[in-house]
Amino acid sequence: MTDSTAQGLSTRSVHAGEHRDSEGAVHTPLYNHSTFAFDSTADLLDVVEGRKPGNPCTRYGLNPTIRSTETKLADLEGGEQALAFSSGMAAEAATFLAHCRTGDHIVCIGEVYGGTFELLGANLPQVGITTTFPRADEVGRLPEILTGRTRIVFFETPANPTLTVFDIAALAEQARTVGALTAVDNTFATPVNQNPLQHGADLVVHSATKYLGGHSDLTAGALIGPAGLLAPVAMWRKNLGQTIAPETAFLLARSIRSLPVRVRAQNTTAAAVAAFLATHPRVSRVHYPGLATGEQKRIVDAQMHAGGGMLSAVLNTDAVGTAAVVDRLTLFAIAPSLGGVESLVTQPITTTHHGLDPAERARRGIADSMIRLSVGLEDADDLIADLARALDGD
Ligand code: PLP
Repeated sequence: MTDSTAQGLSTRSVHAGEHRDSEGAVHTPLYNHSTFAFDSTADLLDVVEGRKPGNPCTRYGLNPTIRSTETKLADLEGGEQALAFSSGMAAEAATFLAHCRTGDHIVCIGEVYGGTFELLGANLPQVGITTTFPRADEVGRLPEILTGRTRIVFFETPANPTLTVFDIAALAEQARTVGALTAVDNTFATPVNQNPLQHGADLVVHSATKYLGGHSDLTAGALIGPAGLLAPVAMWRKNLGQTIAPETAFLLARSIRSLPVRVRAQNTTAAAVAAFLATHPRVSRVHYPGLATGEQKRIVDAQMHAGGGMLSAVLNTDAVGTAAVVDRLTLFAIAPSLGGVESLVTQPITTTHHGLDPAERARRGIADSMIRLSVGLEDADDLIADLARALDGD
């Protein structure tokens, strides 16, 4: 393991958490094993009773490959510890279950991934945990929404698909007034563009399926924060069987070593695509943190290092016309995910926000003619040419 505190993000992405085995493998090998043998009963008891580190059982997360990837994740977010999960939803579910009891309350601000909305709105009420969902334009009402039973304030920033940014420091301060934890989904920004813990968040959640995995070929999640807050979550992870598979942890570490290179290239290309769309006559509005103005710009400047690789645009047409534009794209694949090396496009009303009532969608700024782009690693000129052709109807 490397002491990484003084090193840059790219160096830490490569070296944090890595160890060589006795064969000299240049980074942490894949230990796919479900269990590990001990030299004696006394050795086993030392580990089971917490006197020595060891690896009795992979489902507990006690596996050298998983631990290595978790050390890397914690380092990149500047957190004390990380837990790696089988998916982003697993990370969220274990966090909510570990930190709330029956009768407790969660506040989920602004737009969130549909699965998160379903977990909070449909599943957790079955165990007596309720959630209030203020819209982005209702953030000012937070003091009246927070209660003595609010345990967690949760939000994505930038949020999907409006790319609205939320002031992490200000919201965390308000959450603290009632003793609630602030948990930020940092999937869209990645640790390259934003570190919520530095701005007062207590916990950071990732769908590692997206930018951290980066190649649309693995499903994983992560939770990062102080060890004291992660300990109860680790118990739920263990007993719900949500721990990341060693093979996936190995692939995730492989991907994270190139995370800064990928995300910085995606930042640059997305900024060029956003600038192109902003001047196109068939586009009425572009949502991109790098183009933010006013209060949104102030927040971006205060907490983000760059605008990221995600953007959305509202077209001057209806839902059918928008679908036709999407269908004419050739380099952007039609898919609801994000964060991979290949560019993706989705029309939120057909995927991520399909289930939402049209009036509620309108209140939340999700137009029928909105497209969301996840910008990959292709050349910016090629992506812009593809968009130009599709918008012009060629
Ligand atoms: N958070 C965000 C912002 C997402 O976009 C998603 C999935 O799309 C999730 C969480 C859930 O992650 P996973 O698909 O890894 O369970």
